[in-house]
Amino acid sequence: MQNKYVKKMLVLVMLGVLLITSCKANYSANLDNTTTNKDKEVKQEKKDIIEPKKVVNIKKISEDKKYTFSYSSENRFVSLKIPENEWTNFINCRYNKIMPKQNNKMGMTISTKWCKFLYQNIKDDYDFIVYVVNEEERPKKLFMNGCYQAVKNDIKGIGTMVTRTPFFDYTKHYSKDANRLQGLIFLTHNDVIYNGPILHEILHRWGNYLIDCDYGVHWGNANIYGRLGGQKSIQQVGNNSKVIGYRRYWQGGYAPLELYLMGLIPKEEVPNITIAQYYSNRIISQTEWNRVDGQDIVVKGKIKTKTYTIQDIIDGKASNKEQALNIGDRVPNYKDSQKKFNMLFVAIDHDDINENQKKSINNQIKLLSQNENYDDGIYNFFEACLGKAELSTEIHIKE
Ligand SMILES: [Zn+2]
Repeated sequence: MQNKYVKKMLVLVMLGVLLITSCKANYSANLDNTTTNKDKEVKQEKKDIIEPKKVVNIKKISEDKKYTFSYSSENRFVSLKIPENEWTNFINCRYNKIMPKQNNKMGMTISTKWCKFLYQNIKDDYDFIVYVVNEEERPKKLFMNGCYQAVKNDIKGIGTMVTRTPFFDYTKHYSKDANRLQGLIFLTHNDVIYNGPILHEILHRWGNYLIDCDYGVHWGNANIYGRLGGQKSIQQVGNNSKVIGYRRYWQGGYAPLELYLMGLIPKEEVPNITIAQYYSNRIISQTEWNRVDGQDIVVKGKIKTKTYTIQDIIDGKASNKEQALNIGDRVPNYKDSQKKFNMLFVAIDHDDINENQKKSINNQIKLLSQNENYDDGIYNFFEACLGKAELSTEIHIKE
């Protein structure tokens, strides 16, 4: 019995040793596996680690000590700190005057000083410079959300931008180093960079200087229904006329005539244009700034209309005398025209720009300039151009 017992015990002990050994083996096998994977991960991580980009910060003060230029590689804009009295004058619209030596052209006269200092620090790589007033709300005296200030035109067939001057180059008024600059845009508060008038303001580079439709540089009485306004159509309802879908600006892509003027589509793709004629009152009076965009308007009486083909428009048949100084086929045409535009954003303030403002401005610039379709109900430049043109907001600082 005792022997049997000892034998049993021996067997049990041996089994136990075996079990422990195999457990150990399993355990060590798992451990090896883990070590191997970890090793792999570490190696992979090492491979994936890209040296963190060094943040570059530049701060420059103008010779007269009035202005401070700031650039940080973390931001998509540069900032220009201006003296408080200049800020007060600007937001009270006191610089909105006739530009010196620019043939009676109105503009923000202070921008020449700002640009002069700016060009000491940035490269001559920009088609457009956008000055953003760093305020959450539009200062009351600045009557617009945005405005465009023409600097140069060498394009034929888009009408006359500046009084009796179809072709002009005022780049040197802004800086001896400026050559590429075509126009300035002013945004009167810092939340209209993406969802706001900017696509409208960019379009003022090319229009409307060609069609006389009784609304300045916008489409007014024409059925263009684009970023520069206009309406969809005019219907007769009894003794009244109904203007369908009047719009001043904001939503939507560029209309075909707008894309033609931008040099992005051929004339064959532009439908006929109907313009209200012989109507004693403007469909929209200049004072009705707050009209809801896209709504229908009923006006008394019959509105006579006249329809033009794109060839009529190219031939100047819808132009006034001044506009007709620059008619004919667009040169360069849609094949040779510029398709990539560089834009520099400059935040203007008399104070420092806080972190929330930086975050918001950066995000809006990112959305505006992403050159792909982005389904958020708001058009970026690329989408508004049907993917035929691109916008870059990269910052190029002078070495
Ligand atoms: Zn406008």
